[in-house]
Amino acid sequence: QSVLLSVKDLKRHFDVGKGKTLKAVDGLSFEIYKGETFGLVGESGCGKSTAGRTILGLYNKTDGDVVFEGQNVHDMNDKERHQFLKKMQMVFQDPYASLNPRSTVYEIIAEPMEIHNMYKSKKELRARVNELLEDVGLNRDHANRYPHEFSGGQRQRIGIARALALDPEFIIADEPISALDVSVQAQVVMLFQRLQREKGLTYLFIAHDLSMVKYLSDRIGVMYLGHLVELTTSDQLYGKPLHPYTEALLSAIPIPDPDIEESRERILLEGELPSPIDPPSGCVFRTRCPYAMAVCATQKPDWLEKDEGHFVACHLHDESLMKEVKEQAKPM
Ligand code: SF4
Ligand code: MG
Repeated sequence: QSVLLSVKDLKRHFDVGKGKTLKAVDGLSFEIYKGETFGLVGESGCGKSTAGRTILGLYNKTDGDVVFEGQNVHDMNDKERHQFLKKMQMVFQDPYASLNPRSTVYEIIAEPMEIHNMYKSKKELRARVNELLEDVGLNRDHANRYPHEFSGGQRQRIGIARALALDPEFIIADEPISALDVSVQAQVVMLFQRLQREKGLTYLFIAHDLSMVKYLSDRIGVMYLGHLVELTTSDQLYGKPLHPYTEALLSAIPIPDPDIEESRERILLEGELPSPIDPPSGCVFRTRCPYAMAVCATQKPDWLEKDEGHFVACHLHDESLMKEVKEQAKPM
């Protein structure tokens, strides 16, 4: 598998005044392979959208690197950036907010191609817009209408058509289905899957829960308070989750068939997500972790590779540390 994108110890901090810093993204590292779907999952406020925008270069980084096809995203001149933006696109959560209400569907989809001077004649451009509408399950009759005339699902299709206009290789989809009715979510997910097959796209798919992402993703990274806490294949994450936070996210998914006994121990998340301005010391998850130990407050867990490609940041999985903890607990 070849690496399309690599994120190396990426940080994005915001100065919030009074000498305080909001550490929205605080040291993310992962790679995305060409042609895969990488799911990035975590509660709202955990930094996933900021991560998406920083990866795309829409936000400056505070530290670290994002490398796309060998090129440093945060180190491009204007011309390089212009070319890069053709390859990488974003689909947003709220399709309505991201579509100009005063533009027709034609104008919305044609705009990026006009900016990049992709077609010489209006006729070619019109034909390409029609083709894109068909790609996303709409048709040419929709071209002269305005966003408010469409349902949420259709608006997201328009947003996807616009993202596809420049024929990108990589799409960051930031919660593209969470604002949609449950009944249309599956259709939009299937659309993403079909487009991936047809166009060989690579996705970074951001979501706040695991329910849809598990079907869609090849690998998943679980984020908590600006940090990755677990990363592995979709199957491993479901079959053998290692981090207590992942277990809690899995527990939150309703059991599809009530007749089937859930073998997994259910962990409920208690309390609020702590503020990223004043994050807990040691392990960021410790204030809500049912297994928290003394060492969790003083020592930040290492990023451990437990099985091939299965990473976790939790002291419970650090064998040498746990041995020490147990020995210290023994009566003298
Ligand atoms: Fe829980 Fe400690 Fe593991 Fe953090 S390091 S997840 S607090 S057991
Ligand atoms: Mg978000």
